[in-house]
Parts: sequence; structure tokens; C-alpha cells
Amino acid sequence: MIYFSTNKSSIPVSLKKATLEGLAPDGGLYIPSEIPRFSTEEIKLLEGACFNNIAFAIAKKFIGSDIPPDQLSDMIDNCYNFDAPLVQLDSNTFIEELFCGPTLAFKDYGARFLARLTGFFAAEEQKLITVLVATSGDTGSAVAYGFQGIANTRVVLLYPSGKVSPLQEQQLTTAGSNVYALEVKGDFDDCQRMVKEAFVDPGLNRSLILTSANSINISRLIPQSFYFAWASLQLKEQYGYSNPLFSVPSGNYGNLTAGVLAKRMGFPIGHLIAASNTNDSVTRYVKSGRYDPRPTITTLSTAMDVGNPSNFARLRYFYHNDHVSMSGDITGIAVSDEETRATIRSVDDQFGYLMEPHTAVAYCALERYRAIADIAEKAAVVLSTAHPVKFLEAIEETLNKKIQIPLNLQELMKKKKSATLISSEYKELASFLNELDK
Ligand SMILES: *Cc1c(COP(=O)(O)O)cnc(C)c1O
Repeated sequence: MIYFSTNKSSIPVSLKKATLEGLAPDGGLYIPSEIPRFSTEEIKLLEGACFNNIAFAIAKKFIGSDIPPDQLSDMIDNCYNFDAPLVQLDSNTFIEELFCGPTLAFKDYGARFLARLTGFFAAEEQKLITVLVATSGDTGSAVAYGFQGIANTRVVLLYPSGKVSPLQEQQLTTAGSNVYALEVKGDFDDCQRMVKEAFVDPGLNRSLILTSANSINISRLIPQSFYFAWASLQLKEQYGYSNPLFSVPSGNYGNLTAGVLAKRMGFPIGHLIAASNTNDSVTRYVKSGRYDPRPTITTLSTAMDVGNPSNFARLRYFYHNDHVSMSGDITGIAVSDEETRATIRSVDDQFGYLMEPHTAVAYCALERYRAIADIAEKAAVVLSTAHPVKFLEAIEETLNKKIQIPLNLQELMKKKKSATLISSEYKELASFLNELDK
């Protein structure tokens, strides 16, 4: 399989190059030259298969012979040693809990796979890859724990001092081994500026091979299709539901794009609901065909506060820039903070189920879609992207009650924090990176 840039002016590359580069030289995002298709018979054979077997079948189509099957299979078992439970709320509404990985958010699915592919390709090239990331929280922790202990890789992550939650800071600073945390005396924009400067610093790039691990990397996107495929087959196998709706809490739209991939591959997936908070650039585009991104607004579902989503370029490409064709598969629904809070309360009342704000946005969007489209009987999967404990303050304040923390988290909170405090001047980052090999 070869990979193209959405901007079409870079030469097509191998998965290895696309993975190690991240962004194409023309500034576009890599996409597979064609979306692999599963025949009806192949899908039938996968019904009842376990998560990792489905993941392997999909990965193999995207990877071809670039990774030997035995190694790919081991890699997948090593990535996904946790479940994606489907919790049934009522007869036809399911929550797919994607927060059972080490950092308690769905970003573990993409980051762990990316880390292993990066390690494999780096070993093939006999190189040491340095992953440099600026983070405001969840991406950094998934990357830290994803790359932890992966040979031929190391991670340097920058986070703004005092501007991440105590739990996030714990996750960012305790991975150890090949993961280095830099606590920057500045804000997230400072961290991002410093990282950008490092990528274009010729002196640094002579001695280090730098790469980023942000959500535009194709090897983070492919694995996100696994849980769409798995849920769609489970619903069929266990409950006899075909083509369920999927409601996807969206920020950079990587998750939703992975849903489009799974649907195109031929898995029994129905309509997709792109659930956003008030950062609704894509929702407005799907309705009007006009794309005018606006400055980011801060909301209760902070991980989805994105004014100009990076994966929109891929979505657009897949629908040939045609919003009418896109709206055949996707409906965008924007949810306010007030509705999000009301949803957290009503789901707690009705089902005794604790929902964090991002999942609540998707649940609320599903309810609104069912009301508009008058299809209350159709089965639906709501993707739950984070464990409630990650957004404890927001939930406790909304429900007006205290919530118990699960035990493994208490263990995490006891681990010793290890971070290097630096100023927001680029030269401090450069000298830290130069010292790494000394
Ligand atoms: C990153 C994130 C999202 C948004 O996912 P995208 O793929 O960027 O659309 C939603 N919820 C949580 C908890 C996240 O961390």
C-alpha cells in the first residue's frame, strides 16, 4: 500500500516514510492510495472474532508486507491488552468504553499503535527516533505511555507548568525510561512555538531525527478504525443489530475519519454523527458547504476545543470536497455546555451511568439526531472517549456529589514525578536536546 498527500503535490510514499514523517512535505496529510475493502465473506468470517483478530485483519490490509504477519500480530497483542466494553444503556443504545487503556482515554488506541510501528521502522533503519511533542494534556500522556520502553525511540514532551490537571501531570511525568518531560514556564502556545522551532533548527536536525506524534500521523488514524469495526460486528453477533449509528465526540476529527474508513472498508456501520461542542466549524460545513473556521472557544469538553480541526483535510478529500455527499454519511450536531451538563444529569438519573463531558456531548447529539430523524428504534453506539475520573471536577460540580476514584489511579498518583523545569526560551529546549546524547 502506498500513501498520498491530501495536497497531491508530494510524491507517494511507503507507510514507513509516512509514519516517520507525519506530515507530507507539501503540508498535506497522508492517506492510503485506496481504502482497502473487505468482501461480504471476509466480514462474515470476522463476526465473533476477538478485538485483536479484527485489528490484525484490518492492519494487514493497510500494512501489506511492510511488517511480517507474526510480528504484526505480536505488536497488536502488545498494544491492546485491555478491553473496549460495550455497555448497554437501553435496548438499542450502547456505550463503547474506549478508556480502559493506561491513560484512561481513547488516545491510547492510536498512540500505542503508532509507537510500535515507529519502533519497528526505526529499528529497520537502525536509527534512534526522537519524538517531540507539545501537549496541553491528553495527547502527551497517551504518547508518553505509548512509547514507554519502545526500543529505537525516545520521547521529549513539553507541557505548560501549572496549566494541566494534577492527574494529567502525573501521567506526563511518570512514564520514565525513554520518556523525558519538560515543564515549561509558559503556556501551551509557548510549548508549541518551541517545538516548531526545533523542527526547523538545522543544527539540531543534523544530530537528531525528530518526529512528531500528533493526530495527523496516518499510523495513529488506522488503528482507530479497529474499534468501529469491532463494535459493529459485536452488535450484529450479540444483538442482531445491523448498521448501527455511531455518535462520535469530535475535536480534530481523527476519530470520525477513522469511522469513515471502517465504513468504507465494508463493516456494517450506519450513519455517523459528528458531535461537537460549540466549536462547530465542521457541523456548519456539512450543512452549508462553507468552511469558515473560527477562533477556539473554551468549553466543558476541553479536549474537543478545536477551531480548525486538522483531520478535516482528510474528511474533505474522502468526499471529494462535496458536502452533500458527506452529509449522506455524516450529520454534524453541535452541543452547548448547558446541554452537556443536562445530559450528564439525565443519564445519571435514568441509568445510574456516570458520563464525562465529551461522551455526554456525543450522547446528547444522538438524542437530538433520533428526535430529528424520527428513528428512535435504530441501534446506536456512543463512543466514550475518556474515563469519568479524568474530568472529575466537571462531573462532581454538575451532579453535586463526590465520586470515588478507582484503585489503579491511586497507584498512579503515588508514583514519583520526574520533570525538568525550563523557561520558554527556545535555546533551553535546544540545549536539553543536545545534551541527550552526551
Ligand atoms: C482527543 C479527544 C477527543 C477528540 O478526538 P478527535 O479525534 O480529535 O476528534 C474527544 N474526547 C477526548 C476525551 C479526547 O481526548
